[in-house]
Amino acid sequence: MGTRPSFPARLNNGPAPVAAPARPRAALPPVAAPVSARADFSAMRQRMVRRLAAGGVQSAAVLAAMGTVERDRFIDSALVAQAYEDTSLPIGLNQTISKPNVVARMCELLLGAELAREGKPARVLEIGTGCGYQAAVLSLLAREVYSIERLRGLHEKARENLRPFRLPNVHLLFGDGMAGYAKGAPYAAIIAAAGGEAVPQAWLDQLAVGGRLVAPVAGQGGQQALVVIDRTAQGLRQQLLEAVHFVPLKSGVA
Ligand code: SAH
Repeated sequence: MGTRPSFPARLNNGPAPVAAPARPRAALPPVAAPVSARADFSAMRQRMVRRLAAGGVQSAAVLAAMGTVERDRFIDSALVAQAYEDTSLPIGLNQTISKPNVVARMCELLLGAELAREGKPARVLEIGTGCGYQAAVLSLLAREVYSIERLRGLHEKARENLRPFRLPNVHLLFGDGMAGYAKGAPYAAIIAAAGGEAVPQAWLDQLAVGGRLVAPVAGQGGQQALVVIDRTAQGLRQQLLEAVHFVPLKSGVA
């Protein structure tokens, strides 16, 4: 202990960009220019943060986390130019990385209510690791992040994507998140990145008193909306928020 730099510092400590060798002026442009590309991405990321703030994200902690995690590192190279646009993008196996404003909005909701008074939520469970981007954002907002993914290919991809960030508080799990993850319970916050017909009972059972769950849930006609459920000492309190579009929550592993 004590020698570890703070998380934002670690997040910026990805693999060092390789310095491009000096080349004559007439040379073809390099295929990849890591140094300038990283600088461009940093400027794009700060613009994204300003758009998030202009769009209503208020939490300084969430804005700082969104400004720290390099979303471009989670996007396939063919699509990387769009890494900081407010759009969801394919990550393979028919799944998508969520839009930045949805990630920020959900994180802000998690930090809301009773959690805010105690500072960082203690333990967070994320259902649907996907490429691992949101888990990295959550790692800056929570003490421990448990993130579960049902597709082995994506679980492994997330592991690879997150390796350079070296986040000791992110625990990637392979399994069916419909059952939650009892070993880490109770959670101060549970966040789902995939939407089912209803919130599985296991998630409610694993939510701490004072804790909050944020998940997309399909209503009549299949249209999803964001649902926030708070567990209070008196019981569960539910709020239905705006319409959203998440990939379906599926059971079993593949
Ligand atoms: N948070 C992710 C978003 C990924 S999309 C990111 O930042 O990239 C949602 C993910 O939920 C998909 O990868 C999908 O495979 C996964 N998923 C769907 N149902 C699941 C379940 N029952 N358990 C775990 N993961 C599930």
